[in-house]
Amino acid sequence: MGKYQVKVDMLLCQGHGVCADECPEVFEVVDTGTGYPKVKVKQARPSESLRSKVQDAVNFCPNQTIRIIELD
Ligand code: SF4
Repeated sequence: MGKYQVKVDMLLCQGHGVCADECPEVFEVVDTGTGYPKVKVKQARPSESLRSKVQDAVNFCPNQTIRIIELD
């Protein structure tokens, strides 16, 4: 487990799926049953080896909904 946590503001997520393209190990776009797809965070505490891919998802999410929270 890495020393960071992944958080997504679900209200702002519009299901573009850029995050899942950048880091499919952590992000997946799912049908929410409302007709609007949303991201699903598959691992809230990914390994350090995935950090750069998660950071790419943060950087490229069109809605800037993803945050990395550093843990002690
Ligand atoms: S790229 Fe951003 S807005 Fe799009 S599905 Fe991922 S978290 Fe949601």
